[in-house]
Parts: sequence; structure tokens; C-alpha cells
Amino acid sequence: MTLLYNEPCFLGHVTTHHPECADRIRSIPQRLKESGLAERCRRPKFEPASRQRLSEVHSTAYINEVWALAKSGGGDIEADTVVSPASFDVALMAAGVVCDAAERLVSGEDGKALCLVRPPGHHALAGRAMGFCLFNNVAVAARVAVDELKLDRLLIVDWDVHHGNGTQATFWESPNIGFLSIHRWPFYPGSGNSYETGGGHGLGTTLNLPVEFGISRKDYLDTFAAGLEKLAAKIKPQLIFISAGFDAHRLDPVGSLGLETEDFATLTNTVIDAAEAYCDGKVISVLEGGYNPRALTDSVEVHLAEMIRRAEN
Ligand SMILES: [Zn+2]
Repeated sequence: MTLLYNEPCFLGHVTTHHPECADRIRSIPQRLKESGLAERCRRPKFEPASRQRLSEVHSTAYINEVWALAKSGGGDIEADTVVSPASFDVALMAAGVVCDAAERLVSGEDGKALCLVRPPGHHALAGRAMGFCLFNNVAVAARVAVDELKLDRLLIVDWDVHHGNGTQATFWESPNIGFLSIHRWPFYPGSGNSYETGGGHGLGTTLNLPVEFGISRKDYLDTFAAGLEKLAAKIKPQLIFISAGFDAHRLDPVGSLGLETEDFATLTNTVIDAAEAYCDGKVISVLEGGYNPRALTDSVEVHLAEMIRRAEN
């Protein structure tokens, strides 16, 4: 079966008057129930990520900074990112969900997982919050997969409309953790040029696919498929993570890159094709952006529908 994590606890990171708000995900559980998708998934129990696991990606000083701000009532931790009283605990749940999915997939319990968590993670850096993100959920779980679960090779695929700068920085010098990002460019956060390809022993394991506003849907999807085929062949991953932002949707108020809802079905299948070629179809998808609640709900529905369909085949 497919694992589905869409717990109400993720509404508890309260940002008010902010694009990254609880209302983004509020109607998703009901939709997944009405469409019959939820009942075809398993809903595992999970634990919050430990500070020890977070500290493999983030500095202790930064973890303590987020904790202290939350416990003192919250506030802005940087220009774009809000911390509320519950945010530290909710952020640990978000990272914990992705770690739980990694443990279950690596043990062979299941083959696919969708983690509908917030706050998102892919802009978060080792020592600071950025772009609505507190802790890098995918990066924390990727470290667990390699360091604790002893996988040798991973691939992280980021189709959020923004460059996944935090994930790129985390694994810049990692020879065994590939990172592919397709994103609108030039655009926030400013990084993600095609000449950024990793450093040291990780040279060549980062692949950036910057695309300009106005690109056709076909060109976008073709660019993504070609890039993924190339990097997957190089890494030969044993597990693939998706940083699944849905803010490249035509109706997204932040990112809008002209994609239609059905294009997220295509992207999903492209990643699953790569996963079937190298790792028995194992994919963990983790929510990043997506700021039109209706378009996000529609897109998550088609994304999960494809994951379930492929898992059941
Ligand atoms: Zn985004």
C-alpha cells in the first residue's frame, strides 16, 4: 500500500496573513476521503524527529534558537518566516514523518509514501530559517537513510517552483546523494543556476534545471524528464525523495509557472518510472510549497492517485 501522513497536527504551525498558512492544507483530508484515495492508503503512527537527528543537518545553536523563539511566544525568525508557539513541536513532527517513511520503505514494509507536512523545508539552511522553512524535512530523513539505515545512494528530486537551496547546500559535497531541482529562474531565492553542479567529492551530483517564465508545459515536462533520466543513471538511487511543491501551478499566487493540475500526474509518473528502473519503485514524496488552497488540493489529489495506481499495479 501507499503510506499517507496527513495529520491535523500540521495545522498547528500558525502563521496568519501569510501565504504559507494552515488553510493551504485544511481541505486536503476531506478531498482524499471523498475521492476514495485515503482508504487505499495506510496511515502509520510516527514520532517527532529527535534533536540528534535534526543536528545531522542543522546546528545546535539554530535548533535552540527556533525552540527558544517558539517557547517565548513566537515571532518572525527572518523576513519571510514565522514561528508560532507550537511551531518547534510541529516542525519536529514534520521531520519525524519523513524519517518514519524512510524507515518503513527501507525495511520493505511499503513502497511509496506521501507526507503532507508543514512547515516546508527545502530552503532551510544548516544555521538559519529561510523562505517559510524551519527545518529541512527531506534532508534530515535523507541523512537518516544513509547514516542509520545504511543506504549507499539516494536521489532527491525537487519540483517546487523555487530552487531548493537548503537541500543543495546540505548535500553539495555528497557523492552519493544526488539533487535535482527544476525551478523558475531568475526567481527567489536567486540560486540554482545550471553551473551549480556540486563541489568536492559531490561534483556532478547536483543538477539544476532553471526554466524561465513563459516556458511551455511540454518543454517544462520534457526538461524535467531528460534531467531526471540523466541524474538517475549517474546515481542509481536505492530510494528517491520528492520535494513536492505545487507552486508551479498556473493558479498559484506566488510561483505560477503555467502548469495545469494534470501536469503533476505526469511529473509523478516520471519520477516513479525512474524509481522502478533503479529502486523497486520506492518514492517518498514530501510537501513543500503550493499557495492556492484549491489548486494545491487538486494537485495533491492527482499526485496521490498516480502513486496509488502505480503501487497497486
Ligand atoms: Zn516554492
